[in-house]
Amino acid sequence: MPEGDTVHKLAAYLALELGGRSLLAGVAQAAKTVDLAGRRVEAVFAQGKHLFIEFDDASLLRTHLGMWGSWHGYAVGEAWQKPRQQASIVLEVGERVFVCFNARQVELLRHRGVRRRTLAMALGPDLLAPVVDEALILQRARSLVAAATPILDVLLDQRIASGIGNVYKSEVLFLEGLHPLVRLGELHDDRLIDAYRRARDLLRRNTRGGPRVTRWANDAAGRLWVYGRGRQPCLRCARRLLLARLGKDLRSTYWCPTCQPEEAKRVLT
Ligand SMILES: [Zn+2]
Repeated sequence: MPEGDTVHKLAAYLALELGGRSLLAGVAQAAKTVDLAGRRVEAVFAQGKHLFIEFDDASLLRTHLGMWGSWHGYAVGEAWQKPRQQASIVLEVGERVFVCFNARQVELLRHRGVRRRTLAMALGPDLLAPVVDEALILQRARSLVAAATPILDVLLDQRIASGIGNVYKSEVLFLEGLHPLVRLGELHDDRLIDAYRRARDLLRRNTRGGPRVTRWANDAAGRLWVYGRGRQPCLRCARRLLLARLGKDLRSTYWCPTCQPEEAKRVLT
């Protein structure tokens, strides 16, 4: 599933391929089909898990890949790996065509449009931006969700900070020794900011390509600490890891009952 790091890598790649180029052909399946031919790509960038392509008329194409979306690059005339009817966006420049399949959301935003401003408000600071406003993250966390919200839902809430997906959620909680169901109201600002700093560090270290890594130990035990390792021994304490679908969207969550004790949660309650 694409997380913030994946989308940033994708944006860097597409910026290289499309930046400054005019579209010989282009179509986007937004609320209605939009013809993009003739527009020049000014910039490609990511904010959290959203990918933005800015055109020379200052319109902005926003894409969210969701669980099933992906971008492919082909030579013009080359057979595509997925059926044409699954193409959400097709951008042709020179000898290359870039196709986004099965995007969850595609939207063309007009320059200075109301939606564009609403969207900017709706997304929390991007954890992969060069500078991150931690005070703003805190403020958004404390004001946008209830104090009883479990930390796992806080981390996934892109309105608070954007970039953390389901894999990093479990990894950050493990590395911070936080039980997934500890409530926001039970966490001091320092603990909360530490979790976001940890997420930022992991995301940044994963923007250079290759498989996603949160554990850099020089052994064969694994690239991740807990994600996808339910019922296997904890790589720190050897206790069997737990797995459950937790939070408001019942997403897979992995944790160690020793390294992330529930007792800590109760003591704080
Ligand atoms: Zn452990």
